[in-house]
Amino acid sequence: MPQRFTAKVISKEKVSSKVYLVIFQLIDPPEIEFNAGQNIMLMIAPEVNRVMSIASPPNLKNQILMVHDVSPMGPGSIWTLNLAVGDQMEFMAPTGGALALIDSPRKKVFVATGTGIAPFRSMIIDCLSRYELLTMNYELILYWGLRLEEDIYWKEEFENLEKQYPNFHFYLVLSKASDHWQGKTGHVTEHVLNEEKDLENSDFYLCGNKEMVKELEEQLLAKNVPKERIKTELFY
Ligand SMILES: Cc1cc2nc3c(=O)[nH]c(=O)nc-3n(C[C@H](O)[C@H](O)[C@H](O)COP(=O)(O)OP(=O)(O)OC[C@H]3O[C@@H](n4cnc5c(N)ncnc54)[C@H](O)[C@@H]3O)c2cc1C
Repeated sequence: MPQRFTAKVISKEKVSSKVYLVIFQLIDPPEIEFNAGQNIMLMIAPEVNRVMSIASPPNLKNQILMVHDVSPMGPGSIWTLNLAVGDQMEFMAPTGGALALIDSPRKKVFVATGTGIAPFRSMIIDCLSRYELLTMNYELILYWGLRLEEDIYWKEEFENLEKQYPNFHFYLVLSKASDHWQGKTGHVTEHVLNEEKDLENSDFYLCGNKEMVKELEEQLLAKNVPKERIKTELFY
């Protein structure tokens, strides 16, 4: 059951052209229990709420980390732009759970666009901590689609995880890269469909904009991936 939390902003940082990374310290209650992939519902004004994915892993119980794309510039974006370190705020949590990890030995393929990366950061860090405890041994693959170089953040963090964990692989794909970009380009869906051949032994997690999620889900279903092995969350 979601609970009402009071928290304080302890850090706010602009990490890309349009994304802010905000860390909340929980005050009351001082700790939260949630499953990786779940959300919080920010109470930004009377009768006005906005849902945010929790980007921090569940073993971090006294803080919540979110990444907020403020480009829509609606009430939620303006609320985050106005937040200052030290501000108190309230949210209901945990909510959602559509991305809950399927308990199977199959490879987990995570595909995100934009801030759709947030729940996957939580899920991947959570899975990798179990890999360290030798209670998980499947492969984790992360595909992340952004538009431009200036949209990038967390690249180094995921590359470091890739170096540290032999079962984790990370692909960053830019759809509108400059000529200087040496990495992957195009649409993230094309890369997933080209690279992922062992569909029978994979579970898929798709999060971000509707076009990507719907298109990739349809293509996977057309390739006979069972619907219950495709978990989706639409941000907008
Ligand atoms: C389950 C769930 C989890 C979410 N988690 C996150 C998260 O972790 N980080 C995050 O940044 N957002 C997240 N969102 C989106 C977030 O809740 C808001 O919708 C978003 O911040 C816009 O709020 P707003 O009040 O600024 O704009 P609104 O006035 O609510 O929306 C303005 C318009 O912008 C569109 N829109 C919303 N988001 C985007 C976007 N990123 N790019 C382009 N257009 C957009 C909306 O569809 C609408 O048409 C999540 C949404 C859901 C449903």
